[in-house]
Amino acid sequence: MTTPAYGAHAADKKLEPMQIARRSPGPQDVQIDIAFCGVCHSDLHQVRSEWGGTLYPCVPGHEIVGEVSAVGGAVTRFSVGDTVGVGCMVDSCQECPSCREGEEQYCTGGGFVGTYNGPTDDAPGHTLGGYSQRIVVDENFVVAIRHPHDQLAAVAPLLCAGITTYSPLRHWKVGPGKKVGIVGIGGLGHMGIKIAHAMGAHVVAFTTSESKREDAAKLGADEVINSRNAEEVESHANSFDFILDTVAASHDLDALTALLKRDGTLTLVGVPEHPHPSPDVGNLIFRRRAIAGSLIGGIAETQEMLDFCAEHAIVADIEMIPIQQIDEAYDRMQRSDVKYRFVIDNSTLAS
Ligand SMILES: [Zn+2]
Ligand SMILES: [Zn+2]
Repeated sequence: MTTPAYGAHAADKKLEPMQIARRSPGPQDVQIDIAFCGVCHSDLHQVRSEWGGTLYPCVPGHEIVGEVSAVGGAVTRFSVGDTVGVGCMVDSCQECPSCREGEEQYCTGGGFVGTYNGPTDDAPGHTLGGYSQRIVVDENFVVAIRHPHDQLAAVAPLLCAGITTYSPLRHWKVGPGKKVGIVGIGGLGHMGIKIAHAMGAHVVAFTTSESKREDAAKLGADEVINSRNAEEVESHANSFDFILDTVAASHDLDALTALLKRDGTLTLVGVPEHPHPSPDVGNLIFRRRAIAGSLIGGIAETQEMLDFCAEHAIVADIEMIPIQQIDEAYDRMQRSDVKYRFVIDNSTLAS
């Protein structure tokens, strides 16, 4: 079966309409008619082969929401008509220790299969993502959406930006009585502020742009720090339990580790194109501070995050676009000129 999609044929080519093949649902498969797909920075890096290794044609998109339109005979958790989501993964080995513990994103049995650019038996031999009208996914990698239906478009970014921030906030036990920093107020950071606030923490947002001060407060930040104001930054020395750093550009980590209390952790979720300057080890040793990394979240935790966000009425702040404006959206995203996530209206693939 073929389905309309939007993708690129080479790193230096713009995205264009194309027809792609989708497998017929196998026994364990859920077929989803995609309503909306969020636009993640990873889409842009992958489609332009900035990380290398991109397979073409490349159809990006891993913040997928839509409606189940068919299910295989062995599917137990979903029925036709259900509202569901698919995030960054569509498969993993299901047998290694990480998979058994529900941490499929850390699969050591060959690694998880990405929603796009991952290995698959389906044509053309690599996975094709959510910039398409339809996708077929193993039910173990599909999650239920329980938000009100009119919020569906704004739920899409939770599938990557939401879980990428929720998972470390949970892992490092953010909650009441904890002082938590969120560095960078973009697609990830704006979700981090909302979620940390809903978890009951005292949230401090870090931004380099004075214009985002008011926004950060509206998103749920109790305090806002301008990272370029050294005096303002230093006044918070030794006071944070946890800092979530969402900034992908290379930057000095010492200014942030110096803000952690004894036993505090700075967790990075952005992969810089050029390495960060080496951190000062003394800064870590003398207060038993840690620098850590975190990658999206497992499927069970993604469901937990969606239910948490539904319960707390959390969605992303979005700007909806027709698929035909994707190149313009990429350019604006690179300039951080979006509040705070573009979401594609997939019905425009038909026009
Ligand atoms: Zn993403
Ligand atoms: Zn595994």
